[in-house]
Amino acid sequence: MSTDYNGYITTERIDGADDGPLAGTTVAVKDNISTEGVRTTCGSAMLDDYVPPFDATVVERIKEAGATIPGKTNMDEFGMGTTTETSAFGPTENPVAKGHVPGGSSGGSAAVVAAGDADMALGTDTGGSVRAPAAFCGVVGIKPTYGLVSRYGIVAYANSLEQVGPIAPTVEEAAQLLEVIAGPDPSDATVRDATDERGEGAYDYAAAADGDVDGLDVGIPMELLDGADERVTEVFWDAIDDLESRGATYHDVDLECLRYAVEAYYVTAMSEASSNLARFDGVRYGQSGGYDGNWNETFARAREEGFGEEVKSRVLLGTYALSAGYHDKYYKKAQDARAWIKRDINDALDEADVLASPTMPVPPMELGESLEDPLTMYLADANTTPANLANVPAISVPAGETDDGLPVGLQFVGPAFGEKEIIRAGSALA
Ligand code: GLN
Repeated sequence: MSTDYNGYITTERIDGADDGPLAGTTVAVKDNISTEGVRTTCGSAMLDDYVPPFDATVVERIKEAGATIPGKTNMDEFGMGTTTETSAFGPTENPVAKGHVPGGSSGGSAAVVAAGDADMALGTDTGGSVRAPAAFCGVVGIKPTYGLVSRYGIVAYANSLEQVGPIAPTVEEAAQLLEVIAGPDPSDATVRDATDERGEGAYDYAAAADGDVDGLDVGIPMELLDGADERVTEVFWDAIDDLESRGATYHDVDLECLRYAVEAYYVTAMSEASSNLARFDGVRYGQSGGYDGNWNETFARAREEGFGEEVKSRVLLGTYALSAGYHDKYYKKAQDARAWIKRDINDALDEADVLASPTMPVPPMELGESLEDPLTMYLADANTTPANLANVPAISVPAGETDDGLPVGLQFVGPAFGEKEIIRAGSALA
């Protein structure tokens, strides 16, 4: 099955078990999640013909739960982007807003769900890559608490920030997929048992999608609305009114720290990327540059040919931020900002059940519009990156459309291992 909007990089059917909670459903998988025997490119020419010898834990789990995988979805190269335009396999078009981007970096995953070419999908979210495309394509996306879902078999971009998350048409379906993939894994020591944090029933996410927001206390960080497009804030406030009419209350919260989230995120993500991507040298992993007697030149050629522009510039910036003499000025500062953001978000969540904001400050950009201007693209991550920096869960649910028919997502952020809170809040809207 190929799609005219370029949602899949590879369409190859992988069958799951005959029965289980996901039997009869299709779950598409982002192409940075390892699938045994099926190529996994990360949207990069570097891994054009890379075929992993094992399944990622999340893939093992959805197969055991009975899902069929229809293919591997398009993505920004190594997850670096917000529009799915940095893919070496060409951009994905937004199937519900023609001529526009689907968001990214898991743009293929959200697009195939929105188009009905998969029932659900898995994406990865390092700084918003599940939530941004969910918002732009009018579907639901969850970024779990750091340490809820195994990262074993995920090709790392910035491993202190990323989690695998579900994308689905409704909150209940996304919650059900989360139930299948969550939980401890002997192959990933960073995963904790949610039962230890939240007690019995901690993983009953689908049951929490009951739409009951009576008594829900919503905090709204005004910093995340200040610079947002008016078409987006209008839809946002209408959705908040809707929640209020169903018994929720809201109050403003002041989170000055959020003004530094994009800077802290990009310094951290690029630094980690420069280290994680060192393995793609044409010897251990990746396209070979062809050995001609000089190893340095061979490595350099493999990376010159295999990586796209965005990846190259991030590896260079990350290497610079970590270098002796600049480490304290950039990387250490970013870690200080991260600690500040984490502390203040947790404090705000002591005074509210969830925090709400538009998922993206802008509606879906037109195809081609943001490639020219990376800084503007980075700023589009202002509302999503704080949850990754603070290790807390977040959901994007469709909140409505702008007057010109473009989807708008609303984001709820909850306390660590508070997936049920954000699922309950989100299920009132979708
Ligand atoms: N847009 C962000 C970036 O480019 C987030 C990407 C992601 O979550 N993988 O880094």
